[in-house]
Amino acid sequence: MPDETPNSWEMRADRHSLYGFTDLPSVHARGAVVITRGEGPYVVDVHGRRYLDANSGLWNMVAGFDHPGLIAAAQAQYARLPGYHAFFGRISDRAVELSERLVAVSPFARGRVFYTNSGSEANDTMVKMLWFLAAVEGHPGRRKILTRTGGYHGVTAVAASMTGKPYNALFGLPLPGFIHLTCPHHWRHGAPGESEEAFSARLAQELEATILREGPGTIAGFFAEPVMGAGGAIPPPAGYFQALAPVLARHGIPLVADEVICGFGRTGEVWGCQSYGFMPDAIIASKNLTAGFFPMGAVILGPALADRLQAAAEAVEEFPHGFTASGHPVGAAIALKAIDVVLGEGLIDNVRALAPRFAAGLAALMARHPNIGEWRARGLMGALEAVRDRASRTPFEARLSVSERIANACIDHGLICRPLGQAIVLAPPFILTPAQLDEMFEKLDAALAGVFAELA
Ligand SMILES: *Cc1c(COP(=O)(O)O)cnc(C)c1O
Repeated sequence: MPDETPNSWEMRADRHSLYGFTDLPSVHARGAVVITRGEGPYVVDVHGRRYLDANSGLWNMVAGFDHPGLIAAAQAQYARLPGYHAFFGRISDRAVELSERLVAVSPFARGRVFYTNSGSEANDTMVKMLWFLAAVEGHPGRRKILTRTGGYHGVTAVAASMTGKPYNALFGLPLPGFIHLTCPHHWRHGAPGESEEAFSARLAQELEATILREGPGTIAGFFAEPVMGAGGAIPPPAGYFQALAPVLARHGIPLVADEVICGFGRTGEVWGCQSYGFMPDAIIASKNLTAGFFPMGAVILGPALADRLQAAAEAVEEFPHGFTASGHPVGAAIALKAIDVVLGEGLIDNVRALAPRFAAGLAALMARHPNIGEWRARGLMGALEAVRDRASRTPFEARLSVSERIANACIDHGLICRPLGQAIVLAPPFILTPAQLDEMFEKLDAALAGVFAELA
């Protein structure tokens, strides 16, 4: 129950704050959780209650909520140069260093980096780059963008058009020319008896047929998350990118990896495309880029797109795009430190070390709860899919809001996890100890037992 005294944090939070992506009836009934500080992978609310945040904030606080090295990097840069832009041939030294570092840790032999304030803006920027190339290179009809149903690419008008979620209809989106292919979730969309490889081959045929139907000369790019994040932590079926990449290459369509969640270690490799053995033409990064300590996104262009964009921009004098805070020196200083921390101070090693225990914990919960229909995981991202009936894969009735109930029960047990459709998604910080991982599963187990008993 929320504290209903008029000046409680819950009442104040309800009065003047407009919540995005929030079940409003539920937040009215229960009150918002108002967070005031963090300790490692835990956050603490205004009443002093501690929660293990099994979603790393919004996937991004991978080094926890009080990392001293990241705080010191921010403080030092604020003291030296607290802000600067990257327009008109001026740029901060930190942004120069970060671009070098991002290209060095990217899968590309060379490349160029463009900065934004968010993942949505980075996807918008990439689309505008492709449209700019189409116009300047003399193929103005090459504008359509291919993504997947269930894919999440952000909320700005273009990024929302790329996102394959039904709620975008409430905004009259997608814009024309944004085409959504089948969601590559084998458990849900595979035909009876179809292997993962056969499913991947079928999706590659769908891609080819779509390209031919639309006209190969009308398509500017294909964007995909290596593992779908906000679609429900869905790893691709076996052979998926190996089946799709040659189709795209044959038609000269760039493959953009939206690595906003996967990038910097979430899947156990630096990049999700490395976990799944494919080479994109460009990478979109954000979230983990600064370990959540600063709003920043980046478009990392591989050699071919970097050269084409540079040539096109020179042909018309400039690439007329950018944000006031693009390449912010404090964000860049934090990102440089975050890369050191994740890649150099053992965090990615910990993701690799914990991944088997994480997968085993999910499998164990499915073994204990007949109302779990599927578990899935890669690195430290995973999900449990709730079902009314496992054998027939029948979901719970939508009005029961099963995943919302589970997430609320988790809160009552001191655990934050995320409801997504009928799945519960887990993406804990990379600093988790094995004991904290076990604590996460114990709390989730108790929440699941309570909710499934209620719904039986
Ligand atoms: C979160 C996310 C975005 C959008 O990033 P914002 O910073 O919220 O705009 C884009 N792509 C993916 C894969 C994401 O998870």
